[in-house]
Amino acid sequence: MARNVHPVAAGQRFGRGVVIMPECGRSRNGSVLARLLCDCGTRYEATRPQLWRAGKLSCGCARVHHLRKPQSRHPRGEAHPLSVLSDSDVRELRELWDSTRHLRPQDAARWSLSKLAGKYGVSEGAVDAAVHRRTWRHVT
Ligand SMILES: [Zn+2]
Repeated sequence: MARNVHPVAAGQRFGRGVVIMPECGRSRNGSVLARLLCDCGTRYEATRPQLWRAGKLSCGCARVHHLRKPQSRHPRGEAHPLSVLSDSDVRELRELWDSTRHLRPQDAARWSLSKLAGKYGVSEGAVDAAVHRRTWRHVT
C-alpha cells in the first residue's frame, strides 16, 4: 500500500511548477514521480518528497530567469490596456490546455474553459481564443 503522506494533485502548484501528471513513474529509489510544467514551459519530473520539501520548485530555470534581462520594449498583448493575461499566462494556459489531454477525465475537468477563465480572471471566450491560437498569435 502506498502511503499518501505527500499528496500531489493535477493542477497543484509548487513554486514555478504546476503538476500536469500526479504519477508518471518511479524514481530509482521507488518514489512516485510527478510530472510538472514549469512557468518557463519546460516539463520536468520530481518525486513527491522533493516537492513537499521544496527541493524542486522549478525545472532548474529559476536562477536563469533571475539573470535574464527584461523583455523587448514593444510587447504585444501585454501592452493592451484591456488585457489581463500576460504572455507567460497565455503560454501556461496553452500548456495546461494541451496537457489535459493526457489527464484522466476527472482531472481534465479541473481545467475546463470556465475553470481556466476563473483562474486567470478572463472570459471563457478569451481562454478559448487563446488556447486555439486565434488570439495571442505572437506567443509561441
Ligand atoms: Zn523552468
